[in-house]
Amino acid sequence: MNEETLQGLGPSVFRLLEDSLDDARAAPDLRETGVVRAVSRGIARVGGLSDVIDQELIRFPEGLVGLAVDLAEAGIGVALLGDHTKLEAGQPAWRTGRAIEVPVGHALLGRIVDGIGRPIDQKGEIRAEAHWPVERPAAPIIARAPVARPLHTGIKAIDAAIPVGRGQRQLILGDRQIGKTSIAVDTLLNQRGSGVIGVYCAIGQRAAGVARVIATLRRGGMLDQCVIVVAGPEDAPGLQFIAPYAATSIAEFFMAQGRDVVIVHDDLTRHARTWRELSLLLRRPPGREAYPGDIFFVHARLLERATRLREDHGGGSLTALPIVETQAQNLSAYIPTNLISITDGQIYLSPELFHKGQLPAIDIGKSVSRVGGRAQLPAWRSIAGDLRLFYAQFEEFEAFARFGTQLDASTRQALERGRRVREMLRQDEHAPLAASSQIGLLLATIRGWLDEVPIASLAAAEAAIVERIVHALPELCRRIEDGQPLTDDDHACLQTAVVESARTLPPPARAGSS
Ligand code: ATP
Ligand code: MG
Repeated sequence: MNEETLQGLGPSVFRLLEDSLDDARAAPDLRETGVVRAVSRGIARVGGLSDVIDQELIRFPEGLVGLAVDLAEAGIGVALLGDHTKLEAGQPAWRTGRAIEVPVGHALLGRIVDGIGRPIDQKGEIRAEAHWPVERPAAPIIARAPVARPLHTGIKAIDAAIPVGRGQRQLILGDRQIGKTSIAVDTLLNQRGSGVIGVYCAIGQRAAGVARVIATLRRGGMLDQCVIVVAGPEDAPGLQFIAPYAATSIAEFFMAQGRDVVIVHDDLTRHARTWRELSLLLRRPPGREAYPGDIFFVHARLLERATRLREDHGGGSLTALPIVETQAQNLSAYIPTNLISITDGQIYLSPELFHKGQLPAIDIGKSVSRVGGRAQLPAWRSIAGDLRLFYAQFEEFEAFARFGTQLDASTRQALERGRRVREMLRQDEHAPLAASSQIGLLLATIRGWLDEVPIASLAAAEAAIVERIVHALPELCRRIEDGQPLTDDDHACLQTAVVESARTLPPPARAGSS
């Protein structure tokens, strides 16, 4: 064929050639097809695939996918990300050459997705802006900025004594059923209208519990600002394992846009158990408490991705609130100690306080925030320092007073005031309070402006004070929330508001001060 004839055929030949080349590229490469050797709960052993990389996506018939987690000579171990009951030995498996990816973007807000971002809320397809790998490297040190802005939880005991900053990793830990999830959900609720985006990742949680969280967020008007990632106990272990990484990628997308994001991992105890189960099935050598040797790295590389970025790197932040369940208050078990050392502080919930009805059951003495203090609003910082010390002293006095000791007047007064502070730290769930109201209440009890109010009337007084502060002092509230310190005039203003609202209260039904 000479050149003229070729030109005569025009571009159509080239298109044909290109099309057939594309077809050739799309056709399965025989070298990249393996065979399933064995299938056990959530795991497939696949032979005949060479050059597979760790965490690669492997395809099986009928749309089933899996994650390559164990690369052995004898065959690779694949954690299946779906129903494995139809998969049998002898069936083919294909390499994809790609890492597992999740859809990311604004279309995910208000949606409920599974462990790899597939919608499960019957609201139709998600129009993703991009697909991001589930495992991404954490931001390098050079891109990170120190934690400097507060992330208000709306919970008095936390914002005052264990403040959390944007970009911090704060562990919530405690035995079962003592309000761990409630604290995380209240923190999400408190972000309503603040522009902070929430990601709630449920790992191995019962469906009823997750439904309750979703209903609470919807009622609180926060669901549209949240993404819910759910890997239930009946889902494949592979899905439960990958869910928090996927949720973090979803959150990182918003962080990369300069947004502040808070992610809740509920909970990492179950996540660790899932990884232990998969590792034992893969016949990896078990270590302490039968967990595999890499369990620390599994959580460290997940939480390392939470950070605050420098302004010239977009300025977004990702705050992580991982939850861990302890057994019989054993903080020195393997997984809790790992997570305590990975995170920047912990909020410890005590079953004793819970059973006494002191809710939220936060044990201030055993809780700590290692970086959040720097981010606390100046108005708060000036009084919060007193609070920890004062409260610790009060608890000691109280323990001492139980022996029926004769107490001097000043100790008696400290005890009375301490009881009021403790009462003030009580808070119903799903009722987060604005920073200015919290500061007003804290000042009122610590400075003794409410010493005359009987403890039985404190809850009513609190409501009246909050009402008064919000309505009568909007300008002061704005200044506090803008991060300005309180002046002497502000203190006087707050004191008047507190004392006047306490005066308007009806006399308590039961006289007496405790
Ligand atoms: P699990 O171990 O099952 O995950 P959990 O520690 O996450 O439990 P939650 O589910 O948050 O605990 O709360 C346990 C119970 O305590 C719930 O019934 C919840 O309504 C109640 N509760 C939690 N916090 C408060 C509060 N501040 N005031 C009143 N009730 C609360
Ligand atoms: Mg819970």
